[in-house]
Amino acid sequence: MRTVIWLREDLRLHDNPALHHAALSGDVIPVYIYPQGLGAASYWWLHHSLSRLANDLSEQGVELILKTGDPAEVLADVCRAVGADRLAWNRVYSPAGIDLGRQVKERFSQLDIALQSFNGQLLTEPTQIFTKQGTPFKVFTPFWRHCLTTLEPTELLGRPDFKPSNITVESESLDDWGLLPTKPDWSVGISERWQPGEAGAQTRWESFLSGRIRRYKDGRDIPKDENTSMLSPHLAFGEISPKQIWFETHEAIAAREVDSDNGNKFLSEIGWREFSRYLLVHFPHVISASFNSRFEEFPWQTDASLLHAWQHGQTGYPIVDAGMRELWHTGYMHNRVRMVVASFLTKHCLIDWRIGMDWFWDTLVDADIANNTASWQWASGCGADAAPYFRIFNPILQGEKFDKEGEYIKRWVPELSKLGKRFINKPWEADPMTLKLAGITLGETYPWPVVDHKEARQRALDAYQVIRKPAQ
Ligand SMILES: Cc1cc2nc3c(=O)[nH]c(=O)nc-3n(C[C@H](O)[C@H](O)[C@H](O)COP(=O)(O)OP(=O)(O)OC[C@H]3O[C@@H](n4cnc5c(N)ncnc54)[C@H](O)[C@@H]3O)c2cc1C
Repeated sequence: MRTVIWLREDLRLHDNPALHHAALSGDVIPVYIYPQGLGAASYWWLHHSLSRLANDLSEQGVELILKTGDPAEVLADVCRAVGADRLAWNRVYSPAGIDLGRQVKERFSQLDIALQSFNGQLLTEPTQIFTKQGTPFKVFTPFWRHCLTTLEPTELLGRPDFKPSNITVESESLDDWGLLPTKPDWSVGISERWQPGEAGAQTRWESFLSGRIRRYKDGRDIPKDENTSMLSPHLAFGEISPKQIWFETHEAIAAREVDSDNGNKFLSEIGWREFSRYLLVHFPHVISASFNSRFEEFPWQTDASLLHAWQHGQTGYPIVDAGMRELWHTGYMHNRVRMVVASFLTKHCLIDWRIGMDWFWDTLVDADIANNTASWQWASGCGADAAPYFRIFNPILQGEKFDKEGEYIKRWVPELSKLGKRFINKPWEADPMTLKLAGITLGETYPWPVVDHKEARQRALDAYQVIRKPAQ
């Protein structure tokens, strides 16, 4: 049996069902097709991830084939060229991913080639999960409770044992794809923080499971520490399987190496990942429309200078600026701070959540269509099971609560590094002498707040009244 594998968001060898099953039954020809529409940071990640995967495969005598073009046609051509008996892939559960799968099935209905698809991306199968009434879940807690009753740790699939083969197909060159930035090369900070690829994913996972997971429940909200798993880009590119995470966390809990409070809290975040994909499968329109349709009438405002200040970490609110600069330099932002900056953009600045989402899409190395859409809608109050719109994060109190000493802020906003903790979240309240001693001149070395918190809060609540009124 000769199988062409269509690699997509599953750039790994371990626990990769499509690769594993194909390797058991004969020759394997893995193909990756240039994906349109990724953000710049994701293309950077993709380059390195593909390069490492190609190395891992080549050590086992298998070549990764790179192609550009319409996936259905490219796959049909490759299958014909190698005389494939079968095309297999791991499913992608985004609307575009589902649509591509459909197009490939249609194209192959005219060919005498078997098709096989697997779930390598999720713990659950979204089309199998419904409430007792037979409708899709819209709230996370009952969804996850339901999943927990059905989920069982299954044995993981090891690395495939490829059979040597001499099949050759012409591949494009990864370098010719031009995925890396050159002029300017903005990727230095990103390269310092991350090691894309399966080996990097496994290293992160092992270090988290043998250490930081034990303080996850409380530690996950403290941005100055790396208490979370930092697996998000690896999960987004499928460099580690959620089943491995699920299985090995349960093993660690059973062996009492990890207490169930911390272990289960961590797994519930993996549950949010499941839920955001589940929502897109059942409500694909929310990829660009508010889940709560009343928000389609929300009086969003256009303000280029506010948006620019937010994007570049120049809002005058230190926790917001620290987060936006962490994102710019490293392609990542701590989850607590993501919530604060998203709330700030949509509520303090009244800028449409889709504009913030697009910025994240371009700059995050973990940009993930489902998590990004669901999280932006959650933070702006228009999503399924969202934070209520009227609950508006106070960026000063958020900073004082989760970055008490201002260490996170000082790391990313060095011009405030000499300011004491009393004023670190509100430099504009410091007396002139304190500012002078800290080397700060507001409006010159660090901005005045771009909006006044109290006024902005009231403005947001007033705007909300517009859509709160029931239709006449
Ligand atoms: C406005 C906003 C935008 C976001 N955009 C993205 C995005 O594009 N890609 C992305 O992966 N996450 C996104 N998140 C969710 C979350 O911030 C990141 O997944 C998390 O910070 C990644 O760090 P970690 O891997 O250390 O997380 P951990 O806390 O270790 O969590 C483990 C994994 O669970 C998943 N996860 C965690 N939190 C969430 C969540 N709230 N929703 C869905 N899945 C979650 C991720 O896959 C994560 O890697 C966003 C959150 C907000 C508030």
